[in-house]
Amino acid sequence: MMYENSLDFARQLDADDPLRPFRDRFHIPEQGGKPLVYLCGNSLGLQPKTAREALEQELDTWQNLGVEGWFHPSESTGQPWLSYHESCKADLAQIVGAEPSEVCPMNALTVNLHLLLASFYHPTEKRTKILTIKGDFPSDQYALETHVRHRGLNPADTIIEIGPRSIDGLIHVTDIQHALAEHADELALVWMSGLNYYTGQLYNMAAITDTVRQHCRFREDIPIGFDLAHAIGNVPLRLHDWGVDFATWCSYKYLNGGPGAVSGVFVHEKHHDQLLPRLAGWWGYREDERFAMTPGFVPAPGADGWQVSTPNILAMALHRISLRITAEADMTALRQKSQQLTGFLVYILAPFTDIQLLTPDDPNQRGCQLSLLVRKNGKALFQHLTEQGIIGDWREPDCIRLAPTPLYNTFEDVWRVGEALTQFYRMGKEGA
Ligand SMILES: *Cc1c(COP(=O)(O)O)cnc(C)c1O
Repeated sequence: MMYENSLDFARQLDADDPLRPFRDRFHIPEQGGKPLVYLCGNSLGLQPKTAREALEQELDTWQNLGVEGWFHPSESTGQPWLSYHESCKADLAQIVGAEPSEVCPMNALTVNLHLLLASFYHPTEKRTKILTIKGDFPSDQYALETHVRHRGLNPADTIIEIGPRSIDGLIHVTDIQHALAEHADELALVWMSGLNYYTGQLYNMAAITDTVRQHCRFREDIPIGFDLAHAIGNVPLRLHDWGVDFATWCSYKYLNGGPGAVSGVFVHEKHHDQLLPRLAGWWGYREDERFAMTPGFVPAPGADGWQVSTPNILAMALHRISLRITAEADMTALRQKSQQLTGFLVYILAPFTDIQLLTPDDPNQRGCQLSLLVRKNGKALFQHLTEQGIIGDWREPDCIRLAPTPLYNTFEDVWRVGEALTQFYRMGKEGA
């Protein structure tokens, strides 16, 4: 696409944008009566206008039915709270590219990672090691480390981290493939983010999973799992077809499910007939016999069998309506607009030589987010953007992350970033 740095051009793209009506379904925060340029959907997505009503429906059910809410089909979903998770499944499955039986909304991301590691990390005498990416999200590192210790192993000898080749911080898929080949005989697990939270790099999950499968062919299985915190609702996923073993995500970023929103898990169909070990709770018990309360855990079929506790219905109500919006917009259409929006931001940033892009230039290796390395006056620039009503986030010591999201951001938003940058650097010159 050919871009132009003008307000008219940006407004024309917005006028031609088939997803433009989705913006009106969100509350856009304001500053001084003007909508903010909110580029922080990678951290906390905005509130859908239907959120309040969705909460009120469940509050009404609680008010009017009390405990009967668990058994009485609700007005919102036609499901009693007992099977409320069912009302999220079709949309979740569509968004991650799975069968409905392979997904289940539950808990929070790190909690789910612990549950999944209990099931998928089985060190044996010969195979103990976990392959992961260096500098991945800290919570994931802590989870891996503690699982290794729980098995009586030492993290330093057990966790293999693939680091970037150079200071650009990017990981080459070929480096991951080489590491897989080198360690195939000692690996018990592969775990990594699908899209790096810091650099914004999107990894080729299909190719990586395929390489793992090739190494498994004549050997024992090496399960591969992905942290999709920054990938879900951001890029199209085909977890089932790629043959990913398991995954988890959070829903408060690109899925707009609200602060601390319900997470979810994916467990590939090929594992549904195996009685994988797990940290069980009554909510994962076969639904038809859960209330028999008999000893001896019998898991519900599919991903549902990883549930542990009574779900938070209020959070689930927000999850349900926000999933609906993303599923309705459709990931293919969202991705198309996202590439244009983020491509426009790359174009707008190009003249500013003090700003270096950490995120790959290749649109296939990134999602919405661009990570800007600003070694000179980065914090001051970030503060200037904030004062101008442009909301991104700041990562010490020198990184600004901006994520235009296709559901509610406009091309005009992106154009405004360029205006604010021009102003900042002009002020700098005049001040000097
Ligand atoms: C946001 C994020 C998390 C958050 O984990 P929670 O358990 O939801 O707090 C985990 N991993 C990655 C990669 C993230 O970006």
